[in-house]
Amino acid sequence: MVAPFLAAALTLQTAAPLPPPRFESGRAWEHLRQLVAIGPRPSGSPAIEQTRKYIKEQLAAMGLTALEQAWEDETPIEKVHMVNLSVIIPGARKERIVFAGHYDTKLFRQFRFVGASDGASSAAFLLELARILKARKSPLTIELLFLDGEEARLPEWQGTDNTYGSRHYVEMAKRDGSLAAIKALILVDMIGDRDLDVRRDENSTLWLTDAIWAAAKHQDLDDSFLAESTRIEDDHLPFLAAGVPSVDIIDLDYDAWHTAKDNLDAVSARSLQIVGDVIVGALPAIEARLIKHSQITLVNKTTVRRKAPRKDYTIRLAHHRHHRRGLRRKADVVMMGH
Ligand SMILES: [Zn+2]
Repeated sequence: MVAPFLAAALTLQTAAPLPPPRFESGRAWEHLRQLVAIGPRPSGSPAIEQTRKYIKEQLAAMGLTALEQAWEDETPIEKVHMVNLSVIIPGARKERIVFAGHYDTKLFRQFRFVGASDGASSAAFLLELARILKARKSPLTIELLFLDGEEARLPEWQGTDNTYGSRHYVEMAKRDGSLAAIKALILVDMIGDRDLDVRRDENSTLWLTDAIWAAAKHQDLDDSFLAESTRIEDDHLPFLAAGVPSVDIIDLDYDAWHTAKDNLDAVSARSLQIVGDVIVGALPAIEARLIKHSQITLVNKTTVRRKAPRKDYTIRLAHHRHHRRGLRRKADVVMMGH
């Protein structure tokens, strides 16, 4: 008697994406605390190896397996061993949405930099996201991507001395043909700031940004997701350059940025909760749009034309002191990603 109804319910489930279970910032906060407790975690260090161990163990406890993508990269200072961690949560379709964030911290020799917002918040966030998305039937496959080497090895952010992990990932995905299945990238970076101010990023894809800001407004969280915009260079640029719709959720308006003060005092579980609620809230609309888009593509290939990938994503850099000062006044300030 029950079986036909069950079958119908399962069919409906793939048609209308269900919201996942609630994002619990208490769990994300505990991950953040554990990561900060490891200490400075620059690429190539024993501490980042320990960080990977923590991430992999936490994922394993959820029944998820992290795959390692390891390589040696040339930085302006030395050759560095880097490792991206990737987790796949299969959905009804093979096409996937990638949630990414970096887990390395910037190398500072003059002071102890533990990167509570810059490095720990993104990794902690992805771990909690993994837990709730694992518990959900998703219409598209989900990939959680923990990126290494986002930070510049030299003090200043310039040239190719940054975003090592995302550039390597995209390069490999192009080579093995897996890039085509990536339908959207949602990047989080520096989302722990106690005083959360996320601005729309002009480098990001407009419809994805709109979907996320609409979810924020819907939940009365628009005092943290501001209508103002800025321009960010971050791990989303290699994906954008490869034609993947991408959005960067980042709060770079952070006084503790790249200082010893980026510690537990500067961040809050509440901020992680806000970003969790917004992203999880936006997910069904993003999935619906991607599914609609892919069906139109199947029916008539000429209806949907992909934007040509940007040939050159190098953007003029402003010195960070300038852009930080200008940030509150100007809407079109060019910012460095971080
Ligand atoms: Zn940084």
